[in-house]
Amino acid sequence: MDDFDRTKRFAIVKRHSPRIRNSGLVKKEVVLLLNPPARFPVLRDYYCSTRSKAGYLWHPIDLLALSGVLGDIFNVAILDCVALGLDPAQSVRRIASIAPGAVIMLVSGITLVEDLAFARMIKRNVKPKKILVLGEPVLSRARQLIEAETCLDGALFDFLGLDAIAILKDRFHDVRNAAYRAGRDILLRRKRPDSFFSLGRIRHDLLDQGMYRLPPLMTPPFASVLCSFGCPYSCAYCNSGRNSLGYAIRDKDDLARELEDIKKNGISKVFFRDMNFPADGQAGQLLEVIRSKGPFKWTCYARPDKVSEDLLMEMAASGCKLVQFGVESKSPELLGRLDRFLGPRSIETAFEAVKKAGMEAGAHFVLGLPGQSEQEVIETLKWAQSLDPAYVSFNLFQYRSGSKLDRLDEHAYPSNNKGSSRGRVPLKRLMTLKKRAYANIYLRPGYIFKRISKAGSIQEVAELSRAALFLLGGLMKERMNN
Ligand code: SF4
Repeated sequence: MDDFDRTKRFAIVKRHSPRIRNSGLVKKEVVLLLNPPARFPVLRDYYCSTRSKAGYLWHPIDLLALSGVLGDIFNVAILDCVALGLDPAQSVRRIASIAPGAVIMLVSGITLVEDLAFARMIKRNVKPKKILVLGEPVLSRARQLIEAETCLDGALFDFLGLDAIAILKDRFHDVRNAAYRAGRDILLRRKRPDSFFSLGRIRHDLLDQGMYRLPPLMTPPFASVLCSFGCPYSCAYCNSGRNSLGYAIRDKDDLARELEDIKKNGISKVFFRDMNFPADGQAGQLLEVIRSKGPFKWTCYARPDKVSEDLLMEMAASGCKLVQFGVESKSPELLGRLDRFLGPRSIETAFEAVKKAGMEAGAHFVLGLPGQSEQEVIETLKWAQSLDPAYVSFNLFQYRSGSKLDRLDEHAYPSNNKGSSRGRVPLKRLMTLKKRAYANIYLRPGYIFKRISKAGSIQEVAELSRAALFLLGGLMKERMNN
């Protein structure tokens, strides 16, 4: 998209916003942004469903983003029942005390049945006028969810806010990217965001900052911030790409205001939650904003083939300490079949360049990818160790609702939870390989010594010990079960 097109679309969004603002509905109504309770620590935000590993938990970025745009129109409250460890009964009592006129809640593929049961419970006990949902399952099943659950009034395909406002105010002609109930009909509009966006004043103050942690670097308090929405690429197994969520860039002044607020509130660590820290022609301006509002210690995700040595040097100079790469697999053939055209050499080069720039690299892998053999899994796990990452995350392949693979396989998503693996390796074997790989990386004396010597504070050492105990607990539990 050229600059003219981006500018024009941004102007349209800006015009749209005051029109909704002046529609005469009452500001005082409370809209509750809710991460519902769960039986285990779950991360449901950004249209992704995952169990928390090693005790980490980050802020639900969708709810934070919505707090900005909706805060212009409504009184906004945020309740993260997962972070607070609330059970359903405690959660309902809290919600009743907030007395929201509307609730916007996260749902996830791995807790969907209980999420929907909780939505019904809120409707029965608290009686908000509307309940909207967002999260991974809505990307492919929004209409079915609203049809089946009479307590639901809409489902959002992005969290940039304008559609939520339009549905809450019954201004359905303004809806661009959501499904909603209008009388007896359920309507669906799918116009992906593809321009610039603004979020307004993000209400970080509404979350208990002490509850969120992402070892080794992000000890509490830190802030989760967005510079972009979605991703410009389209890997077949992922639902965050241009063909699913879309891709839009945040207005620089809007970002600058948020970073200024964060700094004023004494927070100096930032987790940029972009799927890929924007590289294509945007990085220079973003880094300038970060430098001018900092100093911050920060971390981000990036694609290994999109970070040049120069860019990494600039990122390091503006406070970046850790770059998290989606590595997925060592096999370029396997990745190529999934529309991800990356080879091991370019990944190794990125890891070397990160270290040369004085930062650390984290690595995310997916095990059990469609067509992956056991030999490929073993080679990938060995190679993971040789990359010498600051941390590693091994994830079992799941069909992501809204991804190309999910759309191609109509049997992939039969009910609450998708099938976990379509690869050639049995799930149990994958689990064993995964646990062994974690132990090989994290329990090496060399790794432990390096982490402790790199920790910048007692707090970081404490967080690392916490994560190590979590991991050891998991390994021992598995050994006892076998
Ligand atoms: S896997 Fe990463 S690069 Fe590929 S579409 Fe998803 S977020 Fe983008």
